Amino acid sequence: MDSRPTRLICALTSASLEDMRAGLAAAARDGADVAECRLDLLDRLPDREELEILLGDAPLETIATCRPVRQGGRYDGPEDRRLAVLADAADAGATWVDVESDVPPAQRPQARTILSHHDFAGCPADLDRIAADLEASPAEVNKIAFTAAGPEDALRALDVVRACRKPTIASAMGEPGFLSRVLARKVGAFGVFAALSRQSGSAAGQVSVQEIRQLYRWDAIGPRTQCFGVIGCPVGHSMSPAIHNAAFGAAGLDAVYVPLLIQPGAEAFDRFLDALLARPWLDWRGLSVTIPHKENALRYVGPARCDGLAAAIGAVNTVTFEPAGCGERSSLRGDNTDYAAAIDALCQTMSITRDDLAGRTVALLGAGGAARAILAALHRHGARTVVYNRTVERGRRLAREFGAQAVGLDELDRLQAQIIINCTPIGMHPNCDASPLESIPRTAGVVFDTIYNPIRTRLITQAEQAGCLTVSGLDMFVNQAVAQFVRWTARPAPRDTMRQVVLDRLGG
Ligand code: NAP
Repeated sequence: MDSRPTRLICALTSASLEDMRAGLAAAARDGADVAECRLDLLDRLPDREELEILLGDAPLETIATCRPVRQGGRYDGPEDRRLAVLADAADAGATWVDVESDVPPAQRPQARTILSHHDFAGCPADLDRIAADLEASPAEVNKIAFTAAGPEDALRALDVVRACRKPTIASAMGEPGFLSRVLARKVGAFGVFAALSRQSGSAAGQVSVQEIRQLYRWDAIGPRTQCFGVIGCPVGHSMSPAIHNAAFGAAGLDAVYVPLLIQPGAEAFDRFLDALLARPWLDWRGLSVTIPHKENALRYVGPARCDGLAAAIGAVNTVTFEPAGCGERSSLRGDNTDYAAAIDALCQTMSITRDDLAGRTVALLGAGGAARAILAALHRHGARTVVYNRTVERGRRLAREFGAQAVGLDELDRLQAQIIINCTPIGMHPNCDASPLESIPRTAGVVFDTIYNPIRTRLITQAEQAGCLTVSGLDMFVNQAVAQFVRWTARPAPRDTMRQVVLDRLGG
């Protein structure tokens, strides 16, 4: 195996030689270890002299690649010319050349070679045989890249790296395969591809060198790094990776947190969880779960291993892996940190305990997932709640489960409650001028808007002007991330760091 830490390889995809030279400098400046020059993406193939200018005094190690159309690249000229350019690139100073595994051995350039195999249709059924063929070749480095259908395919890529004796790159391309990039360093891969910017990548799912270094704590990842992630669909917009990675950094923990795109449906969810549990070497410790998988998480973990309200709410948003003995499967625990986050934000603002909610009157606007979690907690602590929902029947169904009443939104002008909680998206970005209420009723002393983008919604402004105490969705959002951190690590959470990440992201 290779003794150097996994290299960050910046793929350069410029159309002009001048821009590609500038890209080499930018890649070095951003902290890449190696740059891949995609010669097939240049507007014309460079001659020998131009290759010397490009590669001769490059500020970092380089890979010369000239990918043919048949392997997903753009070069469609004669094969002998392509291979001659690669040989020239090696002579001109490229550290490695990338040669596709379908090139007959006798025709491969005499150079330090990365022998590559690509499959854009999906994870090949014969992945192990492909890896074995690459291993058997005299090439210095193996490379396998395939399109991932789900994050379990990314785990297959990590399996390949672990099984190979030669330095190996294994990329599960596309957003679902993202974890194969971040965790490549944990399994000691030869390298992982990243881009100069998200827009300039050479394959789907590539992040920028800066993002992988800063957001995903690249330099801190090692063989014993504990893994966490957020499951959802979509998941690309989630702030959780930024919050939890910053929190791990601030707490000095050897841990990393990644987004995990899983298509809707119990089958896709189960497939990934089964794949995680089958690999104790991953040191997987926790999952955040968001739409549409919270019910799947409850079912998978089993209500008996979930906190009492999670089962009543019907949703688990936090899964904790409790490690078993060496090499054994972890056991799972499910929690719902949403309701506690909301109720605690409310009680902190009111300077009361949860039990002091007993007998207080609450108007709960909305009957979706957030309303359900909050209503279950209000019910448990004895508050008297009326649900106001656009679809009255849905509101009634929810209210019945928790001994509440339900009416339509047209009743809002007759609202009389001490506490108002908005669990609808009315007022959410970009409709920031909207509010679910024309005015704040005189009975209200506290207004809680679960929306966190923007942090100051129109409803919150109205409530402040009416002299009410206010609770923002930001408080709830940070509280639930803090609760997850504590659940997973049994340590106090760096709350200020986590809150600041959200504020930075929201521009507030
Ligand atoms: P959800 O399950 O889709 O439920 C949405 C609810 O809002 C439903 O009751 C829906 O009524 C109602 N609604 C949607 N659009 C409406 C409109 N134009 N006019 C009136 N009512 C409308 O969503 P959710 O997950 O509960 O999320 C709801 C809100 O909570 C979001 O704004 C989200 O930002 C916030 N939230 C915040 C946090 C946090 O940590 N701060 C966490 C979760 C959610 P129908 O039944 O008639 O469709």
